Amino acid sequence: MPRPIQATIHPQALRHNLNRVRLAAPDAQVWAVTKANAYGHGIERAFDGLRGADGFALLDLSEAQRVRDLGWRGPILLLEGAFEARDLELCSRLSLWHTVHCDEQIDMLALHKTHEPHRIFLKMNSGMNRLGFTPQRFRSAWTRLNALPQVDEISLMTHFSDADGPKGIAEQMARFAEATCDLPGERSLSNSAATLRHAQDAAVKADWIRPGIAVYGSSPDFPAHSAADWDLQPAMSLNAQIIAVQSLQAGDTVGYGSSFVADRAMRIGVVACGYADGYPRICPTGTPVLVNGQRGRTVGRVSMDMLTVDLSPFPDAGVGSTVTLWGQSAQGAVLAIDEVAQAAGTVGYELMCALAQRVPVVLAD
Ligand SMILES: *Cc1c(COP(=O)(O)O)cnc(C)c1O
Repeated sequence: MPRPIQATIHPQALRHNLNRVRLAAPDAQVWAVTKANAYGHGIERAFDGLRGADGFALLDLSEAQRVRDLGWRGPILLLEGAFEARDLELCSRLSLWHTVHCDEQIDMLALHKTHEPHRIFLKMNSGMNRLGFTPQRFRSAWTRLNALPQVDEISLMTHFSDADGPKGIAEQMARFAEATCDLPGERSLSNSAATLRHAQDAAVKADWIRPGIAVYGSSPDFPAHSAADWDLQPAMSLNAQIIAVQSLQAGDTVGYGSSFVADRAMRIGVVACGYADGYPRICPTGTPVLVNGQRGRTVGRVSMDMLTVDLSPFPDAGVGSTVTLWGQSAQGAVLAIDEVAQAAGTVGYELMCALAQRVPVVLAD
């Protein structure tokens, strides 16, 4: 028998979440962002739930190839564009749209031989200071691109650094709007947080939105809003079974470092999930779990293959009982991945992307 741990991907949740972001920006087309293997969900597994999107946005050429192999003939956008000249050959062959964020990428395009001109998303660095041309240099980049026979339509994009927080997007929006006001082309500005939080801002809807995390059912601005607040459903669940039970006396300890000391007699369940499965080792005693669908807590240190939970509130739970580490339980209860991420001092993004290769994954129906 395989180790009793399993991740489940929920196509129905992906469909629901995609609809949810569409409602926030009803006039925009939607890129389903599927970088990092669809945020750890698996491109092939997520595809059916996401095929209602208008396009797929990702970074790795191999992932673009996989989306084409699934039969997708619509738009695919490379969010970081070409890394080397050879990449442009694949862009031509697979009809990929690609970002241009630096002069070197324009140089490569100018030397590229193609019969079909490429659709470009020209990226502005409006304040994030990772990728893109500054507002001052944006127009000359556009002019240079526009003169190339290799280039078809040019769309304009930028990315917000603070769409999820108190600083917001106003400053970056103003820089973008000013530097592009008389340039033609479609606009793409918003990630999940900008789409959900700033939807009232007409400019944010733009022509293409780029939601990632919301599509997978995690809140882009937890704890200000939970996934439930945004009406998002978890698209990934991680469940494992209890493989052993220990009865402790007051003063007994649990796990490495004896970090948890029982202050009274209690039952402990040993769960077949550890940090080698992608569950963060740093999660402290008290991190929420669901035991048979009911809210409980971890105790002691997470080890490589196991973690331990307090069974005191669950006299009926024992070996074979299911513990939900995040997502949906068989009983239909939900433990938001964001709560577990918070206990680990990180975000839902990191947990879903870190689901380990060794965890078997199934598709819910
Ligand atoms: C990852 C990414 C997104 C999606 O961000 P979320 O916060 O997951 O919605 C959007 N745009 C770009 C350029 C990205 O790299």
